[in-house]
Amino acid sequence: MGGFYLPGLLLWASQFNLALVALALLLCLIGSYTVMIVLRRAVVLHGTRRLSWLLALCTSFGADVWATHFIAMLAFNPGVPVYYNAVCTALSILAAVLGALPAFALLLWRPAVRFVWGWAGLLLGGAIGAMHFIGMSAMELRGSFGYSPAAVLASLAYGVVAMSLSMRAMQKAGAAGAVQAGMLLAAAICGLHFIAMAGLRISPGTVWSTAFFVTGTDKSDLAVAIACVSLLLLVTSLISATTDSKLVERQLEARRLWHLSRHDDLTGLLNRRGLRECLSKMSAGRLALISIGLARLKPVDDLFGREVVDKLFRQAAERLTANLRPGDILAMPAGEEFVVLHKQGATHEDPLAFAQHLIGCLSEPFKIDGVTVQIGACAGLVCSEGSGEGAESLLSAADIALREAKAAGAGQARHFTMAMSARLLRRHQLEQEFEAALRNREFLLFFQPLFDCRSLTLRGFEALARWQHPERGMIGPDEFIPVAETGGMITALGEYVLDEACRVACTWPEDLRVAVNLSPLQLKSPALPEKIWAALSRSGLAPHRLELELTEGAMLEQTAEVQLSLAALKDSGVSFAIDDFGAGYSSLSYLHRFSFERLKIDKSFTREITASPDARIVTGAIIGLGAALGMAVLAEGVETEAQLNILRKAGCGQVQGFLLGRPMPENEVINLLARVAKTGGRAVPALS
Ligand code: C2E
Ligand code: MG
Ligand code: MG
Repeated sequence: MGGFYLPGLLLWASQFNLALVALALLLCLIGSYTVMIVLRRAVVLHGTRRLSWLLALCTSFGADVWATHFIAMLAFNPGVPVYYNAVCTALSILAAVLGALPAFALLLWRPAVRFVWGWAGLLLGGAIGAMHFIGMSAMELRGSFGYSPAAVLASLAYGVVAMSLSMRAMQKAGAAGAVQAGMLLAAAICGLHFIAMAGLRISPGTVWSTAFFVTGTDKSDLAVAIACVSLLLLVTSLISATTDSKLVERQLEARRLWHLSRHDDLTGLLNRRGLRECLSKMSAGRLALISIGLARLKPVDDLFGREVVDKLFRQAAERLTANLRPGDILAMPAGEEFVVLHKQGATHEDPLAFAQHLIGCLSEPFKIDGVTVQIGACAGLVCSEGSGEGAESLLSAADIALREAKAAGAGQARHFTMAMSARLLRRHQLEQEFEAALRNREFLLFFQPLFDCRSLTLRGFEALARWQHPERGMIGPDEFIPVAETGGMITALGEYVLDEACRVACTWPEDLRVAVNLSPLQLKSPALPEKIWAALSRSGLAPHRLELELTEGAMLEQTAEVQLSLAALKDSGVSFAIDDFGAGYSSLSYLHRFSFERLKIDKSFTREITASPDARIVTGAIIGLGAALGMAVLAEGVETEAQLNILRKAGCGQVQGFLLGRPMPENEVINLLARVAKTGGRAVPALS
């Protein structure tokens, strides 16, 4: 037998049928790539799906290794007839399949184990080796055969190293990783086989064993048959893995789209559609729907930009989530509003108190990118007994309640009532009728007299708009001014008021001024100065007799253009007053940016002035502030003599209020002026 083994490579190679060797190599490459694709597939799956792909993986590996080995064996011509024992051949296949099982299981279920690729390489290298040597023991020939121990050891060591490298390459992402790993696997299988074959020694003899496969003239046919069967198996695995991965990709994509269409992409919370579906599933049981709106976002946006606002929303979502009760759901159905679905049955907590609690959470400062941001929130809520109200109607009821809460100011929470939707309906109707009312001159001006606080001499009138509605009667400005502002009709109304006020004031004695209220939205129009000058010139009113009243809110949103407009008007002689001072924002920074002639103390202070020492202190301080800044001070809402006396003592300059004169139509102003003329400027003789 020793004479059979020849060290010369060429001589050694001449023992092989090269066509069959090429077939074995080709099959090995296809098989190894298939193994890698199936492995990649199994890695991303879970549960029983992963288990079934593990079996496919081991079978593919077994088919790959065994078919390569067997065809390569058939390619080998030792010079004596060779037979193959069926049992040992079957066992060799089993060795490859079962040997691969722990290796792939380790890779799939314990990928985080240190040097997992090395352990898997060791097991797989062992599996190939076991398959090879059990497969070789199936050979039956006339004589005996054995191996060079060095070749056995070298083949096994090579197999383990190449397999480990293959498993390591497998961990690389992308197709390149799979190809590289497949090539290394093929190199491991072929290398182990041929190194071991180099150490094979055959000694011809006379003893025969029983045989199952007969080689000889039909060797090539047998090799081709094995190749075809294995190829079929491998290609089936390859196609299954590829189509399965496409299928799963499509399923994942469908799931992703489903998720996207039902979630807000900024916070990941349920969006309106998701919330609607969730609500319709939760129709049983009592639940409260709390709509939460964040306040004071605009200054944050202006100061720090959209990115900070986005982060603020994410943090607000986290804060709300942390404060939910078990079973509650948080959603973000509209751009800047959160909705909490609060299950009432579980806690018996008062939903209004819970809403206040959530508002409190959002009112705590937020720390974003090193800056501290303080916002506020309002909430509107609606309770459902689970009697099947539609999701949309619950959502819109909560929205209506939120709108009312916002109108009441930051930090407020409101329960939905039917009166709210009646108000909303009326508001919509007024908005519809507004333009026709302007055309039909349904808007009137009332005039409320303004007096010197000490002498009660008449100083002028404030023009206050009214809507004389043909069906609904007299509507006050507190109701229709917000409608005009949101509906975009405020500019037209403002022009009308200015024209009317100037026209009427022209008929009064020349020492009386007229005060006209301006909406913050009117201020934003660059054409405002032109419009005011046009109204003055149409009526012939001297500019110094016109005073424009602005609220603190209007001053906060001042841009450079607005400041230019105000300065131009001021230069032309028109004067300015801050209306409702103290009722709005507490920022006083605008006071030194623009000099007002007058400061009007809000009527809420006047109302309290007799009963509350604090209100007296604040009013006194405002009067002092006005004096220090060179502004005249007028107190609004004077209803009692006691209030008047306190204001006099505090040094207030002028007053306005029901005690001295309610807002009146133009013809009543004429009567008042006649009385004033008789009393030498004093319009309220009853008071001293
Ligand atoms: P305002 O400018 O602060 O006007 C004073 C409001 O206080 C008037 O309400 C007036 O009737 C009321 N008032 C006067 N004295 C007393 C009093 O002694 N006690 C009480 N409780 N109230 C008193 P009105 O006419 O309902 O106007 C409300 C607000 O609507 C005005 O507040 C003003 O901000 C706005 N407004 C009125 N007319 C116009 C307008 O033509 N344009 C704009 N943009 N706003 C207007
Ligand atoms: Mg006013
Ligand atoms: Mg006022």
